[in-house]
Amino acid sequence: MSRIAYVNGQYVPHARAAVHIEDRGYQFADAIYEVCEIKEGYIIDMGPHLDRLDRSLHELRITAPMARMPLIRILREVANLNRVRNGLVYIQISRGVAAREHYFPSKPVRASIVVTAKRIDPRTLEAKADNGIKVISVPENRWERVDIKTVGLLPNVLAKQAAREAGATEAWFVDNSGMVTEGGSTNAWILTKDNRLVTRQADCGILRGITREGVLQVAQKRQIIVEERSFSIREAQEAVEAFVTSASALVMPVVEIDKVLIGDGRPGHLSRELRKEFHERAERTKL
Ligand code: PMP
Repeated sequence: MSRIAYVNGQYVPHARAAVHIEDRGYQFADAIYEVCEIKEGYIIDMGPHLDRLDRSLHELRITAPMARMPLIRILREVANLNRVRNGLVYIQISRGVAAREHYFPSKPVRASIVVTAKRIDPRTLEAKADNGIKVISVPENRWERVDIKTVGLLPNVLAKQAAREAGATEAWFVDNSGMVTEGGSTNAWILTKDNRLVTRQADCGILRGITREGVLQVAQKRQIIVEERSFSIREAQEAVEAFVTSASALVMPVVEIDKVLIGDGRPGHLSRELRKEFHERAERTKL
C-alpha cells in the first residue's frame, strides 16, 4: 500500500508530495508543526496539540489556513488512508509561498499546510523503553523562543546527531547557568532521592510538552510531589531515576547521562509506571 500525504487541499502519493521551492518554511523555517500520537485507532490528546498549534500560529502571526473542524477531518483522513492504527500524525503549516524576501509577504498569501501519518510498531518502542536510553549534554545554543513549536530545528538536529555519534539517543541542552533546559526533541525529568519529581518550569526556555502536561496530571493524581524548576546535569546524575517525554517517545526512561549510570542503570519503577498510566487520563479521538 503506498503512503498518502495531504498537501494544500490535495491527497497525493507520499513519494510525489511537494511544496514550492519558495515556500517560506523551506527558505526561512517560517513554519510551525505538531505531532500527535495515534494509539489503537485513537488520536491522543488532539485537543491540547491543536491548542498549541493555534498558539504557535498566533505567536508568528500566521493566519490558520483552515478552521479546526476541517483540519481534524484531514488528520483522520490521512491516518485512515495510510491505515495507521499506531504511529504518528504530523501537521506543518508555513506562512506560505512568496518571492524570497525576509519581510512577511506584503500581499497576504495563504499559509501552506501539509499533513502526513506514519505507522510505528508499538513493540519496537516498548523494547526501547525496556532498555532505557542514554543521554549526553550539549550547550544550549537555540533562540529564546523555543516555547513556539517552529520547524527551525537545526540546533536540535545537530545535538541529536552528536548524541547518536556518542552512542546515545538524546541530547539535553544545558543553559548558561549550568541548568538543563530540555532534550533535542523531548522534555527532561528526574526523580530525586527524596522522591520529588522535577522538570523545568515551562517558561520560554522549553517547549511546553503535551506529554509533559499529561505526566504532571498523572503525578498530581498519584499525589507525587512535583517541583517545576531547573536542575543541573550533576543533580540528574545523582537522581534515582530520569526520563524524557514526548508524543513520539511517551515516557522514556533514561539510564545514563554523560556516561554516568542513573540508579542501577536500569529503567526506574516510577518511569515505568508513568509510562503505563499516561494513557489512562488521555483525551482520545477516534479515527
Ligand atoms: N521539546 C522539544 C524540543 C520537542 O521537539 C518536543 C517534541 N515535539 C517536546 C519537547 C515534547 O513535546 P510533546 O510532549 O508535546 O511531544
